[in-house]
Amino acid sequence: MHTTNLRWWYPAAVLAAGALWAEAHDDLSKPEIRTEIRKDEKGKDVVYMFIDGIKVHERDPAKQPHPPVVTPGTDGAAEGPGLPPSDAVVLFDGSAESMKNWTDTMGNPTKWKLVDGALEAVKKAGYIQSRQEFGSCQVHVEWATPKPPKGNDQGRGNSGVFLMGRYEVQVLDSYENTTYADGQAGALYGRAKPLVNACRPPGEWQSFDIIFHRPQFDEKGEVVERATFTVLHNGVLIHDHVILSGGTGWRGPHAATEYEAHPDKGPISLQDHGNPVRYRNIWVRELED
Ligand code: MG
Repeated sequence: MHTTNLRWWYPAAVLAAGALWAEAHDDLSKPEIRTEIRKDEKGKDVVYMFIDGIKVHERDPAKQPHPPVVTPGTDGAAEGPGLPPSDAVVLFDGSAESMKNWTDTMGNPTKWKLVDGALEAVKKAGYIQSRQEFGSCQVHVEWATPKPPKGNDQGRGNSGVFLMGRYEVQVLDSYENTTYADGQAGALYGRAKPLVNACRPPGEWQSFDIIFHRPQFDEKGEVVERATFTVLHNGVLIHDHVILSGGTGWRGPHAATEYEAHPDKGPISLQDHGNPVRYRNIWVRELED
């Protein structure tokens, strides 16, 4: 009698359990990532990476369409720095004192400048990073690209906000400045383009609100759960719980780095890409994994 009962409900239970498992676990086979070695003009091997069939940093919009442009509404960032929530770790509030929360990559005081209550990137001063380290967290950061704009493409207002010192949310002047879609403002660099382009003009303050869950690695150093990002740019959703398919580091013109095992916490870093991008009102709230 028991066996008969078991027969009718068993397949349904297996299906339901499978669905629950799939929902709870990261499907490591998606997106489909393929790499190819090609020779450059000097005969040197260059890695080309394709994510779901699209070449990383593909410039042809017919192959990697540009996100639509939207005009963002107003939030605190447009009028003046907003106020952090009471439970936030404030990393920069416009004061000289809060500059001490940041160092260069060697742990020395940063050479970035305090200008009108903003932290300004200084060419050749290198990346800066928070003294305090974080894993999964919510980050608020306000930034402004130089006005008048200088340069174009990746050379205009380039910087970046790095989670755990390694996963970059791109900062770029993407206001009427075209570059490859997976490298424009708000892109998870080389890995995921923003849903829309919500960039404000050069010189205007903009905000990122980032909800980040760190990746998990097993004892062998293999990634078993990848990082996820939800990002709002000027209050507009640009990444909706996106699973980061690998690292965001530069690995040649058409490839990005892979996951590499790292500690459970790392700093928030800001990129010196040679452009005097400004930052203000930077705060973090730690989250459960
Ligand atoms: Mg950058």
